[in-house]
Amino acid sequence: MPSFVTHLECSRCGSRYNHREIHHLCACGGPLLVEYDLEAAGRAVRPDDLRGRVASMWRYREFLPVEEHAVTLGEGFTQLFRLHRLGDRAGLTDLWLKDDGLNPTGTFKARGAATGMTAVVERGVREVALPTAGNAGAAWAAYGAAAGVLVHVAMPRDAPQSAREQSLAYGARVTLVDGLIGDAAALIAEGVRDRGWFDAGTLREPYRIEGKKTLGLEIAEQLGWRLPDAIVYPAGGGVGIIGIWRALEQLAALRWVRGPRPRLIVVQAEGCAPMVKAFHQGKEESDPWPDPATIAHGLRVPKALGDFLVLRAVRETGGTCVAVSDDEIVAAMGDLAREAGVLACPEGAATLAAATRLRDAGELDPGHRVVLINTGTGLGQDRTPRPEKE
Ligand SMILES: *Cc1c(COP(=O)(O)O)cnc(C)c1O
Ligand SMILES: [Zn+2]
Repeated sequence: MPSFVTHLECSRCGSRYNHREIHHLCACGGPLLVEYDLEAAGRAVRPDDLRGRVASMWRYREFLPVEEHAVTLGEGFTQLFRLHRLGDRAGLTDLWLKDDGLNPTGTFKARGAATGMTAVVERGVREVALPTAGNAGAAWAAYGAAAGVLVHVAMPRDAPQSAREQSLAYGARVTLVDGLIGDAAALIAEGVRDRGWFDAGTLREPYRIEGKKTLGLEIAEQLGWRLPDAIVYPAGGGVGIIGIWRALEQLAALRWVRGPRPRLIVVQAEGCAPMVKAFHQGKEESDPWPDPATIAHGLRVPKALGDFLVLRAVRETGGTCVAVSDDEIVAAMGDLAREAGVLACPEGAATLAAATRLRDAGELDPGHRVVLINTGTGLGQDRTPRPEKE
């Protein structure tokens, strides 16, 4: 079955590119987005048709970039459930959690790696490379193993050990870098230039974001095509929130959902909050954050390539951006573990800390339906919560 992809389009200047060719960034430096013939896709499948389909993100294949065979480990269609006790405690009686820690490799990076690797294989690429805070490297390593594609990853030396060990176990070539993800990116850029590796860095290829888009499609389907009032997301590179925003736009164009779009709420860590700062300053782009520091490694991105898209998504949906402290994150990890039975990663727990703050500030109403996104498991992480001291 051929895909409904029509072309790639620059998110900055609107230039179009042929999706059958390999493209990275636009000539203007803007990230490229995948565009579809939505009308034709919407004629090919209706919401009711989804019922009997595979319980993975590939149930939405008409809205994904795959021509023939997807590289899949069964990612996506993760559980979405109510947080009854935590909701009562936070003063949010309709609080939900989308638990993407249940994905292969333990994080929602599996979604992007699945579409990314599928696109790579369909275009005949045999070797890819990416800089990573850790989890994207582990995910691409796993999908590379499934597809028979060699994966080079560069990550900070202090990246979570679990991510490093996973990447090695899946057979990736791992380089540890003294520094941050930007330093890892410089190393990868060398290999891309000198050895012809395919650059799979965040937003440097158009297909990752399509996998992350399925988060938004799933939330809509799992809530019976009635969208929530707010979605709270921990943003590093921001790919997930851009993906969710595109899902909401496409669902609206298809008229599969009704009513106002959810407010998109971005959470960052106080020790690295470039988009939060830019949002409150009314800027369209962020300035690089000096000396980023937080226990939430996935949020330690001092300047994201797609920051302008994240800020646009937040503003267009009437959302907001909020920074939380590492102490609040650790407390929220403990609360999720002890009062919901969820072992969340620090990034995911940050969404609970943010929702609690926004509720206290009156920015979320008690009855609002709020969906938190836990982007990864806390299992095997360096910071599993311990019981509070007596
Ligand atoms: C990468 C990552 C994030 C940030 O995701 P972006 O799409 O880059 O904003 C959040 N949480 C975890 C666990 C991650 O690995
Ligand atoms: Zn452009």
